[in-house]
Amino acid sequence: MDKESVRYIINHYSKWMLPEEREALRHMHSYLKHDFTNPELNLASLEKVYKKVGWLSEKESVLALLKDGPENFELRMAIRIFNEHKNEIFMNNCPNCGKLPRTPLAKQCRYCGYDWH
Ligand SMILES: [Zn+2]
Repeated sequence: MDKESVRYIINHYSKWMLPEEREALRHMHSYLKHDFTNPELNLASLEKVYKKVGWLSEKESVLALLKDGPENFELRMAIRIFNEHKNEIFMNNCPNCGKLPRTPLAKQCRYCGYDWH
């Protein structure tokens, strides 16, 4: 599955994320915002707050989802969602060039300009 399809499925079909996947995604985004592993940044108290409100997870099952990196996690999740909901997911590929627009409702291609209104 290519990166654009992964992004498309995560953006538009997030309702099918499992609770642990949702938690892992939130954890990942918190880490993208703040590097809690860097001691020079003095983020210990912020880290505590993030854990308290659930933006950082300490659950092993959640952390395990991220162990081979955010990209692989997103890829695996998108493939799972796609496989389990093939019939409900609309891959809105351009009728002209076959590329994927940003949303399932788009009717104009951002690559070739084709309009299918
Ligand atoms: Zn196109």
